[in-house]
Amino acid sequence: MAEETYTFVCTVCGWEVTVDTPELPDDFVCEVCGVGPEMFELVED
Ligand SMILES: [Zn+2]
Repeated sequence: MAEETYTFVCTVCGWEVTVDTPELPDDFVCEVCGVGPEMFELVED
């Protein structure tokens, strides 16, 4: 059974992160530029 993953990209710096939930947690921060989850966009495959 394949596990579903979701890739989000930071719209400020372009850093990508792959997680197994369709939303990032409220306290998520970009590891590169430090912005919060509101600045991330889901990348459609
Ligand atoms: Zn960033």
